[in-house]
Amino acid sequence: MSKLTPMMQQYLEIKARYPDALLLYRMGDFYELFMEDAVTAAQILEIALTSRDKNAENPIPMCGVPYHAADSYIARLIAAGHKVAICDQVEDPKKAKGLVRREVTRVVTPGLVVESRNLSSKDPNYLGAVAEARGTFGLAYLDISTADFQVVEVVGQEALLDELHRVSPKELLVPEGWAAPWLERSCSQRDMALTWLEESAFDRKRCEERLIEHFRIHSLESFGLQHMGPGIQAAGAILEYIRKNHLGDCTHLRKITPYAPGDFMHLDEATVRNLELLSSLSTLGRKGSLLHVLDATLTPMGGRRLQRWLRYPLVRLESIRYRQEAVAEMVDKGSLRASVRGHLGKILDVERIMGRVSVGTANPRDLAALARSLEILPQIKELLAEAESPFLQDMAADWDDLEDVASKIARTLVDDPPLSLANGGVIRRGVDPELDRTTRLALDAKSWMADYEVQEREKTGIASLKVRYNKVFGYFIEVSKANLALVPDHYVRKQTLVNAERFITDELKTFETQVLEADEKRIQLEEQIFVELRGWVAQEAPRILAMAGRVAELDCVACLAEVAATCDYCRPELDESGVIEIRDGRHPVIERFLKDGAFVPNDVMLDQEENQVLLITGPNMAGKSTILRQVALIVLMAQMGGFVPAARARIGLVDRIFTRVGASDDLTRGRSTFMVEMQETAHILLQATPQSLVILDEIGRGTSTFDGLSLAWAVAEYLHDYQDRGVKTLFATHYHELTELADKLPRAKNYNVAVKEFENDILFFHRLLPGGTNRSYGIHVAQLAGLPQEVIVRAREILARLESGNHRPPERHPGAPAGKRSRKKAKTGFQMSLFQPSLEWLRDEIAALDLDRMTPLAALQTLYALKEQI
Ligand code: ADP
Repeated sequence: MSKLTPMMQQYLEIKARYPDALLLYRMGDFYELFMEDAVTAAQILEIALTSRDKNAENPIPMCGVPYHAADSYIARLIAAGHKVAICDQVEDPKKAKGLVRREVTRVVTPGLVVESRNLSSKDPNYLGAVAEARGTFGLAYLDISTADFQVVEVVGQEALLDELHRVSPKELLVPEGWAAPWLERSCSQRDMALTWLEESAFDRKRCEERLIEHFRIHSLESFGLQHMGPGIQAAGAILEYIRKNHLGDCTHLRKITPYAPGDFMHLDEATVRNLELLSSLSTLGRKGSLLHVLDATLTPMGGRRLQRWLRYPLVRLESIRYRQEAVAEMVDKGSLRASVRGHLGKILDVERIMGRVSVGTANPRDLAALARSLEILPQIKELLAEAESPFLQDMAADWDDLEDVASKIARTLVDDPPLSLANGGVIRRGVDPELDRTTRLALDAKSWMADYEVQEREKTGIASLKVRYNKVFGYFIEVSKANLALVPDHYVRKQTLVNAERFITDELKTFETQVLEADEKRIQLEEQIFVELRGWVAQEAPRILAMAGRVAELDCVACLAEVAATCDYCRPELDESGVIEIRDGRHPVIERFLKDGAFVPNDVMLDQEENQVLLITGPNMAGKSTILRQVALIVLMAQMGGFVPAARARIGLVDRIFTRVGASDDLTRGRSTFMVEMQETAHILLQATPQSLVILDEIGRGTSTFDGLSLAWAVAEYLHDYQDRGVKTLFATHYHELTELADKLPRAKNYNVAVKEFENDILFFHRLLPGGTNRSYGIHVAQLAGLPQEVIVRAREILARLESGNHRPPERHPGAPAGKRSRKKAKTGFQMSLFQPSLEWLRDEIAALDLDRMTPLAALQTLYALKEQI
């Protein structure tokens, strides 16, 4: 190090303290990165990589970004998965003796972002932490940009993973030394940065003290945390991480909300994915998801809250009704809804502005935007006065117009303040007499210059003499070449132009110094007043955030009402009867993609008596999955408190929805399709309760016919007999053999999705009808899928033969194309000769049967055929 300049030594000392972050080192108007950091950043930011000491033997790579635009560069580094430590000058360079002192003033990590550029407005940005004690996991998570801080405890790895998936934190803190490859794997699959934090940060006692201290409470009982264990550790670790990364006091974090898994409907990872709640399976984006269909919110807070409602549907009748009544009122009162929404549309992201206010990065425009948003509040309150539903009435009763905050900001800041404080012009006149005085001096400069010009013209007799100012030379007197002879001696030459000379005088110099000082002082004063104002607003964070929360909820209620009204949804009847009865139900997402009226509505009745397990058969593409999912989605929407796409619906509340849908390959996890299918099925069978709703689509498909059929059969029986009461189950299957189950099980019923054959074609009606089917129409679907016509024709012939009980395939038509395979006579299948003298042929035939590819029916028929021939 000794050969390095003092500055590089300082750099390296600081860098050593932040080895896992890219260090942005402030030098003048730039943040510089050096060495490996520079190489990494230059690549991500696509900026030039240069070097320091170019002529030295080992030049140090470096690159830099202008400090005033640093936000957007930091955003890109974070998006690329890095942490960024921001190292600022912490003393005035003018006053520093020797090297300016520098310190890291903030570390930005994926989970600790407050700048709006880094955040997508409708998604939360959580930092999570996990701790464990005897198999119970505590998961705490915080969105520092909105102060949303929650904690939950769950039992077992699987439950933790489900919850993690629901929360989807951007960064997860775990204790150092934790060996949890399952968690690491899960994080890497989900783009979740994993950060190891020293174990002491999770120390139970320290964590408790930290929480008490931060929230200024007497005991954890204030928040209902007293019974938690690892939850407290996880929450405490988050506070420690904030402290470590210099995010200041975070005065906006005023509460933490604990909840229990049973407070909400349980939705496991597979279900969230399969039901396409947040993103579609095909596009992996929002489009095509339930969220996309339901999200008509107008504020970013509302958008994030709606996502929360969707991820966490309610299970208690009173709380769902509380919401539903408000939605219903808003549906009925169209003009109230329109007016409320009109106002909501003008409210900006108050929560995130408050995040920046508390961390001290909010700029003048943020505060002005906050004030403008708050000014809308009284108008909404006025509208809520006519509300009748308890939800809206309670909201009106707790409403805080925050007029004091809005008016204080409006009184202090000019109407349209600039983004930055750098050039002043932020604070209104009349706020501070001292500021006004200095501002006047700066403003008065113009008239002073005019006066001085007149005076000097008179004194010198040079009529064209000008007094001017420019940024480079400051103040000067300009005299044209023709008049130079008249210039008095005390004018000091400063600059020569083609046609003129520029001069300075002592008087002008004194004036210049005064003006510059005044300007500097004005900017300083403005900054001071602004920072004070920001600090004052930060103190009001609890009130402001509480209102932001109310606005978010109101936005959600109005949004659900808006969607209900425009999409023709109905208000579901809710009870605890265990009955789910849907009349003319529709799939909320698929109906959007079809032409108006093209979606065929269906009735579904599930109860705990005769209609507990519905076995739905029908050919591929008939609409089985659609019906299954639409039932699940309707239940979920009802339990969010919303209306549902149906003509009528009665929903007996469910505690969990489980889905096992399709054969989704999970190659990233190195598990085969069938393995995944069975693991998901096992999960359902172990976790379901008699109050759950289970959706099983095509179970057992990933294995041989016999295995698959037997498994499907056994699973259906198990769910039917579960805890002597059974579980409400919708079971779609292409094994029409399963329809026999309905005869054997008292609470099972057959349904089929109707299709009609028409001149070798097939018409899909998408209509659910009672009774089973005994055909699979696979060939029709193959035809729809575009298989060559000759294959289809041949398959039809073979099928016709098989169905007539004749298991010898028809001869090929002479001249029919043989395809690429050889014409050699295959010694398998039904190519047996009836005239073989011994029974040896029988052994050969049985050995050659591909049982895995035969349906049980075909196997049975083969057996008959063989028997006939011996
Ligand atoms: P299955 O599960 O029986 O193979 P799907 O439920 O996947 O069939 O449905 C196949 C397609 O049929 C869907 O993508 C949709 O376009 C259409 N469809 C399904 N149900 C309906 C319906 N009720 N009304 C109109 N179209 C439907």
